[in-house]
Amino acid sequence: MIVVMRRGASEEQVQAVVEKVKELGFRSHLSVGEERTIIGVIGDERRVSEGVFRVMEGVEKVVRILHPFKLASRDFHPHDTIVPINGVSIGDRPVVLMAGPCAVESREQLLETALAVKEAGVHILRAGAFKPRTSPYSFQGLGEKGLELLAEVKEETGLAVITEVMAPEQVPLVAQCADILQVGTRNMQNYNLLHAVGESGKPVLLKRGMMSTMEELLMSAEYILSHGNYRVMLCERGIRTFEPYTRNTLDISAVPVLKQLTHLPVIVDPSHAAGNWEWVTPLSMAAVAAGADGLLVEVHPHPDKALSDGPQSLRPERFKELVEKVRAVAQAVGRSL
Ligand code: PEP
Ligand code: MN
Repeated sequence: MIVVMRRGASEEQVQAVVEKVKELGFRSHLSVGEERTIIGVIGDERRVSEGVFRVMEGVEKVVRILHPFKLASRDFHPHDTIVPINGVSIGDRPVVLMAGPCAVESREQLLETALAVKEAGVHILRAGAFKPRTSPYSFQGLGEKGLELLAEVKEETGLAVITEVMAPEQVPLVAQCADILQVGTRNMQNYNLLHAVGESGKPVLLKRGMMSTMEELLMSAEYILSHGNYRVMLCERGIRTFEPYTRNTLDISAVPVLKQLTHLPVIVDPSHAAGNWEWVTPLSMAAVAAGADGLLVEVHPHPDKALSDGPQSLRPERFKELVEKVRAVAQAVGRSL
């Protein structure tokens, strides 16, 4: 449940509610808005009645959140969460682009791609050092060496970095270089990993499991939030359906639905949805038209030589065209790029 404080409630009144929550054996999460403070009461709330808080001074109302996700819901935090990264605010008016190769393959490949996407207006470089591959015989990523290259290219270009972390024990190492920790589709319900990225306090991009519902995605986000890390972004990257022409089916409806249910930024990855570069631009335009806060796009200077996901990677020139088309859509829906 949430305890909504009156406009102008004092520090002491807020503190008294927080103490009460603790005394009853629950955890509290504070959402301090411009107008009012909301206190989330986290735990098995069937054990407590609203009345306990309603009688306290400074309390306006007590509301039970009907969704199974609490901290992620708009009831708890009505305003959009904004995650600032490298001078850009994700979740605010500008549509934020994250782009780069599927995987770090070499210094030259990473730097060439980074410079190209930077020139196209990107602030955040994507590239995996640890790759979760369906086949154990496929390229598994450069691992630690890949992280070193990412750190070098980050330093050289001034771009922020988003990269995947696959296991809880990797979190401290990956967090040294990453500005955003990516949790991949195959790990959306790896609860130990969610716990670890929650504890890290670093911004997290949580990808929707390829066979997960929106509610399951939000419950996974809830794990991270409940560890005190509120800098979480959700990513729709396509789900598995009966349709084989595309690698996955981009669930465009997830964008407006998630934006309504949660205050967390919603990012779309059109590359892993399409599986083919030719559809990446139209899907990006659709995503932004539907209200996405950002895009995660795979770009490779030589897709035919890519060690992973070449067929869905855009060449830098084509990525520039994508940016122009997406900019027009962004402006049409009252956003900027
Ligand atoms: C990726 O972003 O390279 C990736 C592996 O994505 P997903 O987890 O969505 O398959
Ligand atoms: Mn990929």
